[in-house]
Amino acid sequence: MTAITLAAPLAGWAMPLEEVPDPAFAQGLVGAGMAIDPTVNELRSPCDGVVLSVHRARHACTLRAAGGAEVLLHLGIDTVGLNGEGFTAHVRDGQPVKTGDLLIGFDMDLVGSRAQSLVSMMVVVNDGFTVDGRTVNREIAAGEAAMTVHGGPESAAGTAAPAAAAAPGGAAERTATLRIAHGLHARPAAALVAAAKAHPGTVTILCRDRSANAKSVVALMGLGTTLGDRLTVRAGGAGAEGVVDTIAGLIDSGLGDPLVEGAQTPAPAAAPLAAPVPPAAEEDAGPPFAEGEEVLLKGTIAVPGQAVGTVVRRFSSRMRVAEEGEGPAVEEPRLRRALETVTAGLAESARRMPEHAAIFQAHRELLDDPELLDGALADIATGKSADWAWQRTAQLQADALAALADPRMAERAADLRDLERQVLAALSGKPPSVGLADLPAGSIVLADEILPSELAGVPAGRLAGIGMAHGGPTSHAVILAAALGVPTVVALGRQAERVPDGAAVVIDGNRGELHVSPPEDMLAATRTAVAARAVRREENRRLAGEECRMADGTRIEIFANLGRVSDAPGAVIEGAEGCGLLRTEFLFLERQSAPSEDEQYRQYQQIADALEGRPLVIRTLDVGGDKPLPYLPLPKEENPVLGLRGVRVGLREPELLRAQIRAVLRVKPAGICRIMVPMIASPSELQAVRTMVDEERAALGRAEPIELGAMIEVPAAALIADRIGAVADFLSIGTNDLTQYVLAMDRGNPYVASQLDALHPGVLRLIRQAVTGAAVHGRTVAVCGGAASDPMAAPLLIGLGVTELSATPAVIADLKAQIRGLRLEDCRRVAEAALATDSADEVRRLVAEAWPVV
Ligand code: PEP
Ligand code: MG
Repeated sequence: MTAITLAAPLAGWAMPLEEVPDPAFAQGLVGAGMAIDPTVNELRSPCDGVVLSVHRARHACTLRAAGGAEVLLHLGIDTVGLNGEGFTAHVRDGQPVKTGDLLIGFDMDLVGSRAQSLVSMMVVVNDGFTVDGRTVNREIAAGEAAMTVHGGPESAAGTAAPAAAAAPGGAAERTATLRIAHGLHARPAAALVAAAKAHPGTVTILCRDRSANAKSVVALMGLGTTLGDRLTVRAGGAGAEGVVDTIAGLIDSGLGDPLVEGAQTPAPAAAPLAAPVPPAAEEDAGPPFAEGEEVLLKGTIAVPGQAVGTVVRRFSSRMRVAEEGEGPAVEEPRLRRALETVTAGLAESARRMPEHAAIFQAHRELLDDPELLDGALADIATGKSADWAWQRTAQLQADALAALADPRMAERAADLRDLERQVLAALSGKPPSVGLADLPAGSIVLADEILPSELAGVPAGRLAGIGMAHGGPTSHAVILAAALGVPTVVALGRQAERVPDGAAVVIDGNRGELHVSPPEDMLAATRTAVAARAVRREENRRLAGEECRMADGTRIEIFANLGRVSDAPGAVIEGAEGCGLLRTEFLFLERQSAPSEDEQYRQYQQIADALEGRPLVIRTLDVGGDKPLPYLPLPKEENPVLGLRGVRVGLREPELLRAQIRAVLRVKPAGICRIMVPMIASPSELQAVRTMVDEERAALGRAEPIELGAMIEVPAAALIADRIGAVADFLSIGTNDLTQYVLAMDRGNPYVASQLDALHPGVLRLIRQAVTGAAVHGRTVAVCGGAASDPMAAPLLIGLGVTELSATPAVIADLKAQIRGLRLEDCRRVAEAALATDSADEVRRLVAEAWPVV
């Protein structure tokens, strides 16, 4: 490798590593490098490379630089104990970075007052590299040349004992309990590595289903170990007994970290490395339906509409593969060829879709992971097939990642499963399965459940319909599908897995049905119905630009729910009078790092421009629940839907919220935007946001006030709408969450999907209560949840006193046409009757009787 220069990741006083007040770093146990006592609060990348891992406590991260050097950047001394407090990660594992990219931001006051020292280390942790040319004992600027790294894999070959050579001579294994508070973070990992490196043979640490090379600090940190974990030390080669004893003893004694009282009791024994669950042992969906076999599957209505199309399967269930192979001489080249095919496919996808290049690049990095290949080759060496070996290794790693508390890791697990499928497809000689960003036109995608982030990348027009085996009717993926106008049925059950790729199907989002291989006359009738519907829609669209008044002249405003910049022009064409809910989190789902204030500002301004002077209600980030953000590590929660969501996240991460508020305040013209806050339960939460808004407004020197509204989606908020109305300028009811919380039915749960109906009289009574409460202060009440897009709900909501509906753009023209035919008096009468029923079904019958054509 040619030498590479690492730039200073921080500005501050540069110092030799030996002066660091931490013996493990000072003695070079972690690696060779230098330190900086920082004067800035942002850690930046010292080189071009890839993020190998960001520690779950966000105080450290490792990068792989060109040539293979692994660089650990560790902020402060004893900062792991802050458990992430005061640190904000701006990158995630697998992300490519350039020199100077922001990696981690930190609160200098908080970290400085709580940690032993802010002195931060930059060290090269893998074998075979040396550093020189260190700039030390003076002030250094961020980005200035800090040290040079020499060496590389070839040089390493001379220093690391080849594993195969060490194998003869025995093997040994011991298990010990990790009794230190923060698991194997940099310092204890370095102590373990130092002991392992003294042994010429292999040393591996196993924890739960995962394993790591004990000679790699990065691999050990990546195990994600925590207090109480049982670690198995396994060594091979002469002297294996001795080294496992030494390392187990070190683990027992805490590897230099203080032992935690009461953690002595060993946790249950580590599970042995498990073979993949044989598919036969899983609840089997049954064999694929035969070609041409006519089948009707029933699910739950999610997005109305019908479509005819061809099935593209996106199930994650494990493929059956033969275990026995034809020997390493055949299987190893097969695997290598398949990996090359998939790698080439990823490069091609990155070229065709440059906007998603980072995702494909991250997949390539995963494919390149030597542990994956080594794991699979080890199985092949014992006679397994390449398919079995790859599946087993990929699954073990994916399961291990999924089990980590960090939600970003769980996302890497999904990536690995995706790669597992792609490589298996390549091994079977089939073309790699298509991603959603890559669909042929007229596709009807069948999947267990589709993620919002997958839909965010779908080009318009290709996706004709969606059928999900699981999922609920108001999940965020469904909301995106509705915005795309894609008929969707959820909760079809596992029978959906039996539908073969390429089958002709009719998806009926009006009835919640999927017809597999229907007779020709049904296909023809559906095509005719779809065409007739398109004609009606065109008629409604012609009048869409006119304002919406009921038959008696009552004015009802119809706004659009938007989730991406490109939704806005279409919404105007459909007749939207503004945007009543901009789900800002959707703008940033596909990203690897938090959007800067400037980026947000640009996106909001573009949407405001596209709305051509119409009002724009911007909802502050509503992450958590079924919308985790990879770059915002929230703690793993037992029940995230009842935990850190909406405003709770904003108040916990005030800088995130303030940046968003500033971005909104900068949009011109000043009166165009309103701010809406999700998941409000008490007036004090809205008051806290108002204080932030006022402070940021003052800091920006903006004189004009901005309207601040509360979403009513927590039942308590509906009940005390009269109190919330005192501090809110407007209220907007989120019927999706309100229904989920009132009925105690998870909006993503297929088992309750058919009963999760916003027209339940319990929900309607709360809506009435919210409207009555808001009236005390003369506040308007909008509905921006899914009920606003439901033609059966619209008359009832209007009858209950709602004057603004914010719907998915695809239905706006039709909704306006429908409302023009309604009379307020009738709506009130039917709504009153609906409040006095027992069920949503009864309410739907009342509506159908009152307005038979709905
Ligand atoms: C709602 O809950 O109804 C709502 C509009 O918010 P979201 O669907 O984004 O949670
Ligand atoms: Mg909501």
